[in-house]
Amino acid sequence: MWVAAAYRTASFVAAFLPTRAPPLGLVADARARAFNRMRELQHAGDTASGLGRELAAAEGLRVREQWKANTERSDLPSERIRCAIRANWEEWFNRSHGGMSFRLTQVMTGHGYFGSFQCRIGKIANPTCEHCGRAADTVEHTVEVCPAWHKEREILRATVGEDLTLTSLVRAMARSREGWAAVTRFADQVMTRKERAERESANNAKRERGGMSTETFDGC
Ligand SMILES: [Zn+2]
Repeated sequence: MWVAAAYRTASFVAAFLPTRAPPLGLVADARARAFNRMRELQHAGDTASGLGRELAAAEGLRVREQWKANTERSDLPSERIRCAIRANWEEWFNRSHGGMSFRLTQVMTGHGYFGSFQCRIGKIANPTCEHCGRAADTVEHTVEVCPAWHKEREILRATVGEDLTLTSLVRAMARSREGWAAVTRFADQVMTRKERAERESANNAKRERGGMSTETFDGC
């Protein structure tokens, strides 16, 4: 189950949108409304078969509308993924294909083996991309710019097109199995190598700590 594998610090907004599983608070409210409405109708003598299913379907639509409205709140984190999915809302939720993997989740949320994120949570001191040394290692840098992933990016572009913003990736993923597979393949290939590099850096740092003081870098 991907939720168990997802990066522990992913915010609930970023975590729930990719899976299409509504936040539990909204679901609990919807179930309570459906239950109360069912009792009202039964007390009024309405015992039509299928009533429960109809109420549940109506509440399901209501939950999705409430959820979409919640994603527009400016005080929530994870604006990048909220905007990307909101721009492709119907296609994202109505698709019949596509499952989330741990590495795909990292690319969508930006929470994972990206220097900027690792620096923000205090795991490393310097956010600079260790694969090119040219800029801070963000998810945008990884997907759209970093020369280390040029080959993987060109393969991705052959399916998704020139625009590799998250909104464009989400659109391609929602619209076709091919789009979903292309983004998943990119995420798996690139993130696997980034994870390996991060592990090697951590091991090297551990070895070097033997007699050297650690230089700090306040650049997050
Ligand atoms: Zn780079």
